[in-house]
Amino acid sequence: MPRLLLVEDNEEGREGLSRHLRRRGFEVLFAADGRQALEAARAAGPDLILMDMSLPILDGWEATRRLKADEATRPIPVIALTAHAMAGDREKALEAGCDDYETKPVEMPRLLAKIGALLNGRGAGGGHG
Ligand code: MN
Repeated sequence: MPRLLLVEDNEEGREGLSRHLRRRGFEVLFAADGRQALEAARAAGPDLILMDMSLPILDGWEATRRLKADEATRPIPVIALTAHAMAGDREKALEAGCDDYETKPVEMPRLLAKIGALLNGRGAGGGHG
C-alpha cells in the first residue's frame, strides 16, 4: 500500500483529502506544519508527499527545499498544493524542488493521475526527477 504524507495545516482540508485518498487504497500520514513535515519525512519515509505551500513555522517552499537538500529525503516525490492560482506559482514550486503542482480545491482524478505518475517514476514535473 503506497504511503502518502499529507502536509496541511487546515484540518478540514486534511480530513477531506485523506478520506478520498484512503478510499483509493493509500495509507495517509499527516503533518500540520513544515517542521513536522521534515520530521515525518525522515522518520516514516513516505512514498510521496502532498505539500500545502501555506504552512506555519516553515512554509511549504522552504520545507521542500530542505527535503530536497537532504540525501535521505531527496528521492521522495513532492506534489505542491496551493490555493493560489497565481501566475508563477507553478514555476516557484518547481524551483523549490517540487516534482509537480496542484491547485486547490483539488480535483481528485487529476491529483490521482499525478500521484500515479510519480509513484511509477515518470512525473510530469519540471525535470527535477
Ligand atoms: Mn495552509
